[in-house]
Amino acid sequence: MFVLAAIVLTLLFTMKNFNVPYGRHNREGAGPQFDARLGWVIMESPSVILFATMYGIGANASNAVPLVFCVLWLIHYVHRTFIYPFQIRVGQANITLFVVSMGFLFNTINSYLNGRYISQVAQNYTTDWLTDPRFAIGITVFVTGFIINRQSDNILRNLRKPGEKDYKIPRGGMFKYVSCANYFGESTQWIGWAIATWSLPGLAFALWTISNLLPRARSHHRWYINHFSDYPRNRKAMIPFLY
Ligand code: NDP
Repeated sequence: MFVLAAIVLTLLFTMKNFNVPYGRHNREGAGPQFDARLGWVIMESPSVILFATMYGIGANASNAVPLVFCVLWLIHYVHRTFIYPFQIRVGQANITLFVVSMGFLFNTINSYLNGRYISQVAQNYTTDWLTDPRFAIGITVFVTGFIINRQSDNILRNLRKPGEKDYKIPRGGMFKYVSCANYFGESTQWIGWAIATWSLPGLAFALWTISNLLPRARSHHRWYINHFSDYPRNRKAMIPFLY
């Protein structure tokens, strides 16, 4: 996962004209296409089904700390898999089979690693971990990222009236500082997860998320600048004041 994250980051940053083909960067010739909502459900489903299974068969599944992690994970992924796809006001009706396959593969590996780790492999998630500063800091960062991600996705969704397909300039929340506030929230969330779990699977997930979303945020940011002459020039792509 660490090696893959490094390869993905390098490729996505160096292949100047390549954008992962979904949403505004989807294009003809990018291969077979899927219905976007169905595609989201399929590619995210391992994060609920496989994660819950791996978690449930772990020896420590009923302990307090793993349970906290499990609940946080599932709150995010039940929404992302079964609610979010039906909330979006789809502009691009399709998603490529390539993206769905890659997403499914990634979520399968990631859910196995994280679910298995927190309920079986980790031996340090006793009740003492509840008072460890890493737990408190990580959960705080996770919840902050979660709120930013949800708020930003809501702002994006409400840019379009029902039936509209065009793109507008997002405003409010963390969009004051960055073009991709939802990606900033998502990355913050999984950094929080990595800190709270203090685990290699958690760290791999956080790095993978950043490797995937940072180049995409750069593409979105450039796209906004090219399409809107009045686009706020002080905004960064994904990390406030930095990038
Ligand atoms: P985008 O920001 O590209 O799009 C989100 C939704 O908002 C889409 O329905 C899109 O429509 C719409 N939208 C975006 N910008 C505008 C605009 N300016 N005007 C009108 N509508 C707009 O996000 P993604 O689809 O890439 O990601 C969705 C969620 O999934 C995010 O919360 C993201 O953080 C998360 N995610 C997590 C990943 C991870 O590695 N953990 C990987 C990828 C996503 P359209 O589809 O028509 O462009």
